Order: sequence, then structure tokens, then C-alpha cells
Amino acid sequence: MRLYEVTREPRYQALASFFVEERGQQPYYYDIEFEKRGGTRHWIGWGEAWPGMIKDKSYTHAHKPLSEQNEAVGHAVRSVYLMTGLAHIARMTQDEEKRQTCLRIWNNMVQRRMYITGGIGSQGIGEAFTSDYDLPNDTAYGESCASIGLMMFARRMLEMEGDAHYADVMERAFYNTVLGGMALDGKHFFYVNPLETHPKSIPHNHIYDHIKPVRQRWFGCACCPPNIARTLVAIGHYLFTPRQDALFINFYAGSEAQFTVNDRTLALKIEGNYPWDEQVTIRFSQPQTVEHTLALRLPEWCEAPQVQVNGEAAQGETIKGYLHLHRQWQEGDVITLHLPMTIRRVYANPLVRHAAGKVAIQRGPLVYCLEEADNGTELHNLSLPKTSVFREIQGVGVLKGKVLLQAEGLRVPTALEEKPLYSFDNRQTAAEKQTLTFIPWFSWANRGEGEMRIWVDEA
Ligand SMILES: [Zn+2]
Repeated sequence: MRLYEVTREPRYQALASFFVEERGQQPYYYDIEFEKRGGTRHWIGWGEAWPGMIKDKSYTHAHKPLSEQNEAVGHAVRSVYLMTGLAHIARMTQDEEKRQTCLRIWNNMVQRRMYITGGIGSQGIGEAFTSDYDLPNDTAYGESCASIGLMMFARRMLEMEGDAHYADVMERAFYNTVLGGMALDGKHFFYVNPLETHPKSIPHNHIYDHIKPVRQRWFGCACCPPNIARTLVAIGHYLFTPRQDALFINFYAGSEAQFTVNDRTLALKIEGNYPWDEQVTIRFSQPQTVEHTLALRLPEWCEAPQVQVNGEAAQGETIKGYLHLHRQWQEGDVITLHLPMTIRRVYANPLVRHAAGKVAIQRGPLVYCLEEADNGTELHNLSLPKTSVFREIQGVGVLKGKVLLQAEGLRVPTALEEKPLYSFDNRQTAAEKQTLTFIPWFSWANRGEGEMRIWVDEA
């Protein structure tokens, strides 16, 4: 579809449509191919999920035609790659049935099967989706590549729908799982991105075989490291969505960009220290005036965004989460955004049993976590009272330049003297006060091996 969009050669569009329309049609291609190969398969000994192309075709999204599918199933990375293509076809061919398929599967994926980190695919076996609201924290898969694929799917949906909801998900995936897939040194990587780790348990319990408590230098199936690299260098495609009706600005990372609008060039520069600082400035520098609409995303996490054009309150219309500003843009024009980054407590849908009674902390697009390096071991004994007030502090050492958060919390101490495993009627030890330090989750595991936890008990 990308080739078709550039060349307008109809064969490319026809081939892409064939791929998505043929998928899941009977007789099943996979059965025919299995017969031809004498009943053998490549993934011998990988368990039932992997050779799912034979028994459970939902693993390869081929159990029925896409037009009849309603849920995000199977291998997570391949699912979002397939949906990225489908959304591209739906937009370019104005195909309402394909658009509806995209909307159904998107909604199932992000409303019931996505982690707060923008991670998808919650089980290690088959690197796959499971069922609605099944989002375990310490056995999560959440492959880095799956969140990159989610960004791609979101980008294509955004091009079609012009709705900030897609940019909200894209930003969540990018600033949390995708960035977190790489160490701050740029040289170590996660394939799997859990929301909670207890390193002492990992070597002994094979349910954690896929979990690494620190990023690896390289790995055998090294899909994620180069995928993160190419996403970072292609980030402009995600920051901006140029459409006929408007230039959409999705998130406000520092950047310089030029766009052709009616044979003229619109040149702009975004400055600020996003996502740490609340103030963003967009300056225009093209010599000619350019009449166009700018659509500025008002992020879901921001309760009271303020936008000014040349020092005066912006006059525009908010449509699907974007502030649309239409005018003759000229050199020297300045848009300023004030996006208050209030520290937000996030609660999960009550059907997410792994987050019941718990709270997560978010500032701007960044999800925060507790780490052993700041808070000691046995993080499950820590809790955050509902009334605790947060303060921001500056990170030091490897976390320099990052905003950390602190609040007064509680810890149930692990008694020095040995206690019985279980006791009747009363807790064995009372909670004591402890200051809790939260760091941006994408920067966890940069200070050696230790425990980590996003969802914290709320006292
Ligand atoms: Zn990968």
C-alpha cells in the first residue's frame, strides 16, 4: 500500500487487497500447504500455540475472513502488522467494510487487551493475545515490536479518522514500552516488557522463563533492537499526520519539519522539553504565507490545556480531541501550548483482576514505577495512601534530566525474626511510614538488577 500510495500503480493495491481478502477463506491455504509438505512443519516441538496454523488458525488470524473477525487474537506483532495494512487499504479505497473491521479489532485491542504501558500480547506462549481483561503484570509478554506495530496501526487509523484517541494510544506505546525496550545507554534491549519483576523468583519458576530482569546486549531473534532503531529515526511520521484538511500535530517532541501545502512550503519548529516540561512553542519560518489548518492534539492526560497564537488565546474548534486552527500562517507566527502535567492516579477497569485495589501513577504520557534501587526489596509490601500528595524531584546519575516523583507511603516490614508462614486473626506486623520514589517506567532496570512494580496497592 505504501508503494501504491507513491506510484498509484493499481496492481500493488490489488495485491494488498487480495492478501487481506483471501485470508481465512476456505479451503484453508495452510491446510493445503501442510498436505503438500507431507504433514510436516517448521516449528516442531514448540507446543500447540506455535504450529497454530494447523489446528488453531486464529493464531495466524486466518480462522475466518477478516471481515468476520471481532477480536485481537493470535500472535500480537503479526496482528498489528496485518491491521496496519488493512487500515491503509481501507483509507485509500474508501472501503467501509474494511474500516469497520479495523474499528472493531482496534477497540477490542485497546479497550480490553492493552496494558497501561501500551504493551500488547499478554502471554509468553506464542507471544500472543489471550482474552479480555487478562493482563497479568509479572508474566506479561508485551513485546517491544508489538508496541511498535501498535504505533503503526494507530498511525494508519489516525490518517483515516483524524481522531486524537489514536494519537493517545500511539504516544502511550511510544513513551512507555517502545522507549523502555532500549536501555538509556542505547546498547541493551528488552524483547519482553513486564510491569512487575521479582528477580529472586525468576530462575526457579518456569512461568517466568521469558522474563529478563535487565536488558540484554543482543538476542538470537533480534527483531526488537533494529525495530526500535528504525522507529526512532522514522519518528516524524508519528509526530505529524499531514492530511488534506489539516496538518495534525500529534505529540510535541522537539523537531523541525516542512510540509507542502498547495505548492507552498509550511516550515515549523517545535521547541520545549517534552515530555518533561509543560510549555511547548511552535514557530513558523517559511517566507511565504500559507493558508492551512493546524490540528493540535489536546492529550487525554491533560485536563486543562491552554493554547495561544501570537500571545492571544487561540480561536479554533475542537474536533475529535484536536484544536483546529485555520489561518494564513507566516514567518514569525508563534503558537504556545501550556499542557499542565498534573500527576494523575490511574485505575484499571474492575475486570482487570491483576490491578484490583491498585493504582498506577502517570505524569504527562509517562507511566511511573517503583524500583528496588530507591525503595528497597519486597515492593509488594508498599502501599500508597489515597491522600498522599506528590512532589517532583530531579533524577540524578543515570536518571539525570528525568522528573521523579515522591510521596509518603507505607511499608509492611519484613520482620527480622522468623515468623510463621500464616497467622490467625491479625497481621504479623503493622505498616510503617516510608517515602516512596517513583521513576518513569521506561527508564527502569538501568541501575542493575532489582525489583520493579507499576501497580501499587492503594491504602
Ligand atoms: Zn521483537
